[in-house]
Amino acid sequence: MSDCLFCKINEGSIPAEKIYDDNGVFAIKDINPQAPVHFLIIPKKHFSTILEVKETDHEMIGSIYSVANQLAKKSGLDQTGFRIVLNCGAEAGQSVFHIHYHFLGGRVLKWPPG
Ligand code: AMP
Ligand code: ZN
Repeated sequence: MSDCLFCKINEGSIPAEKIYDDNGVFAIKDINPQAPVHFLIIPKKHFSTILEVKETDHEMIGSIYSVANQLAKKSGLDQTGFRIVLNCGAEAGQSVFHIHYHFLGGRVLKWPPG
């Protein structure tokens, strides 16, 4: 998508350090971290929200679990715990309309979220 922040980061026209990168998924550090560790795990295919994800996308979306697993081990949060969050739509606070999974940890996280 031409006017999408995360598509532009994926293509390299907006700079960001990819801390993970494969054919279907990449991860970056959130620019405005809400916890000591705050990564964004992002499918390369553009979906505005999860409502656009189809059954044929499930394998690629499923690989997010493997990326989260690797990032948890790399950051040491596999030892203490972490949270994965996806915001969908206005009331959930989604601000970038290319789906992404927040990977948060490094402090005690409150529940329920605000
Ligand atoms: P959401 O509000 O769930 O759509 O999350 C969007 C996230 O993208 C926010 O946590 C922002 O801080 C983050 N963000 C926005 N621009 C950038 C950027 N250029 N690089 C990294 N993270 C970004
Ligand atoms: Zn996009």
